[in-house]
Amino acid sequence: MMKRKQPTEVYTLADLQNWPAVTRGVQPPVRLAVIGDPVAHSLSPQMQNAALLETEIPIQYSRVLLRETELKDGLELFRRNEFVGFNVTLPHKESVLSFVDEVDDAAKEVGALNTIAIRDHKLVGFNTDGIGFSQAIRDDFFVDLRDLRVLVLGAGGAARAIAFECARQGCERLVIATRTRAKAEQLVQKLHRFFAGPRVLGPVARLQAIGWDESELRMQIPHTDLVVNATPVGVQRSDHSPVAGHLLAPHLMIFDTTYGAGRSSLLKAASEMGARGSNGVSMLVHQGARAFELWFRREAPVTVMRRAIAEALAG
Ligand code: NAP
Repeated sequence: MMKRKQPTEVYTLADLQNWPAVTRGVQPPVRLAVIGDPVAHSLSPQMQNAALLETEIPIQYSRVLLRETELKDGLELFRRNEFVGFNVTLPHKESVLSFVDEVDDAAKEVGALNTIAIRDHKLVGFNTDGIGFSQAIRDDFFVDLRDLRVLVLGAGGAARAIAFECARQGCERLVIATRTRAKAEQLVQKLHRFFAGPRVLGPVARLQAIGWDESELRMQIPHTDLVVNATPVGVQRSDHSPVAGHLLAPHLMIFDTTYGAGRSSLLKAASEMGARGSNGVSMLVHQGARAFELWFRREAPVTVMRRAIAEALAG
C-alpha cells in the first residue's frame, strides 16, 4: 500500500514541474494553493482546508512560492496539473493579469486579481477583496457602504478594490489619501463616473484625492464616517499610527485591513479616542469565502473559516 504523505508547507516551481512525483502519496491531493513571494506567512491554507474538510470536498490547499519571472510557467503548470484554482498574494496581484485567459469586469477595473478559477482549462481571474471588505463592514459595524462617507489610506491593490466597491455601492463620499498624491489622483480619475450624480453634500466634494499629511486629514475627519487603512503602516510594533491619534474622533468607524496577533497602532489610537475599530480578519474570511464560492459554485462555510483563522492567529 502507498504510504500517505502530508503536503509540503511551501512548494516551488520545480515542484510544480514534477508534480505527480513530488505529491505522490499526498491524500487528499493538492488542487488549490496561494501563490506569492514570500508566501509562507499566508493563513489561507488553514482557512480553506477547514472549509474543504467541512464541505467534504476531497482536495487540499497549499502554498507555492513563485518569483516574478516564474509566473508564466507556474500558471501554465497549475492548468496542466489540474488545479481547481488558486489565490494570488503580494507581489503578483497585478502581474498575473498578463497570464490569464479571461478577467472578470470588476477585477479588470481594479487592475489586480486575488483569485483564479480554472474552468474548462481556462484561467479566469477575479478580485474578491472588494466584496470581502463590504461584507466585513456589514459584519463588524452593522452598516452598508452606501450610507457612508469613506476615507481610504493607500492606492495599491487592496485600496483600489475597496474604493471601487465603495463607489459601486454608491457611498455618500469617497476620499483617497496617499503619500504619493499622483497615485490618489489617478485612482480618483477612474472613479469619477460613479460620482456624477446630483447628490448634494454641502461644501465638500463627493470624490477627492488628498496628500497623506496632517493638515489635509484634519480637514477631512469631520466629513468622514469610515476610515480605512489599506496600507501596511501600523502592523509593526515600532510603526506610528497612519492617522495621528489626536485627529481621530469618537464618531468614526476605523477599519484596518491589516491583521495579526496584536492590535495595530491605528486600532490602538482609535480605541484611545473612543472610536469603534476593527481589523482585517473579517475581510480575510469573506474574500476567502467568495473565492471558495467561485471555485465550487456553492456556499462557503464562513463560520468554520473564521474559526480556523482565529485559531491560526492565536496559535
Ligand atoms: P500594495 O498593492 O503593495 O499597496 C500598498 C499601499 O500602501 C500603496 O498605496 C503604498 O503606497 C502604501 N504604502 C506602503 N508603505 C507605506 C508607507 N510607509 N507610508 C504610506 N503608504 C505606504 O499592497 P496591497 O495588496 O494593497 O495591501 C495593502 C495592505 O492591505 C496590506 O497590509 C495587506 O495585508 C492588506 N490586505 C488585507 C486583506 C484582508 O483580507 N484583510 C486583503 C488584501 C490586502 P505607494 O504606492 O506610495 O508605495
